Amino acid sequence: MTEPITLVDAHCHLTTLAEGGQDLVPVLARAHAAGVHQVVTSADGVEEGRRAVALAERFTEVYVTVGWHPSRPRPPDDLETSALTDLLRHPKVVGVGEIGLDHLARPGIPVTPASVQLEQFRLLLDLARDARLGVVVHDRLAHDEILTELGRRRDQAALLHCFSGDAGLARRAAGLGLICSFAGIVTFRNAPGLRQAAQAVPAGHLVVETDAPFLSPEPYRGRPNEPARVAVTAARIAALRGECSATVATAATATARTFYHLPEP
Ligand SMILES: [Zn+2]
Repeated sequence: MTEPITLVDAHCHLTTLAEGGQDLVPVLARAHAAGVHQVVTSADGVEEGRRAVALAERFTEVYVTVGWHPSRPRPPDDLETSALTDLLRHPKVVGVGEIGLDHLARPGIPVTPASVQLEQFRLLLDLARDARLGVVVHDRLAHDEILTELGRRRDQAALLHCFSGDAGLARRAAGLGLICSFAGIVTFRNAPGLRQAAQAVPAGHLVVETDAPFLSPEPYRGRPNEPARVAVTAARIAALRGECSATVATAATATARTFYHLPEP
């Protein structure tokens, strides 16, 4: 007999789903049917932050993180910083992110200089500290720098979104008190290092996310993702760890709720 599971989608982009023409009512109904009773949607900057907060006011199960993506060309100015600070006071804003560092070169898209990225990362870390919120970190080819920066701020709760390191990095991150958030990539055939990371990370440091509408897990790869599919990723991680789905789901849900200070749904 299968036990019912309860999950939190620790990171997704409901604004992108909605603006891509998806009706969030059935999307969230499918999430509930899959046991996903709380969904944390991530917004980049003030404008999207306001749209995400409006969604959270409409749907009880939706919570928000507001950040400043490392691919932005400059840090927030004074006006934007004060608008971000206001948003962080909203009761359904439960974290700051995505923030972080991204050194991946993409054809035709300029990479924001490393010094600018570090400046904006630090500024948003300070905002998070002042707002007493955890940070959701985007780490693309910047593992060591990110761990160094977070290692200097040991009292700052941080979640490594779409964790992309190996088992060694997962152990180092856990050693610093960080949370590793696994997305659907862990189900992809070409991700053996990530699967080892999902096996190695201690239970209290593991959460699951969809990053919807991106990164649909197998067998949905290539199609738009949605919060319900975090259950697929959680089940795969449970199989990798030789644990039952309910055990992994219960631990991941408790960790996500503690990190984001979410109430019982
Ligand atoms: Zn994301």
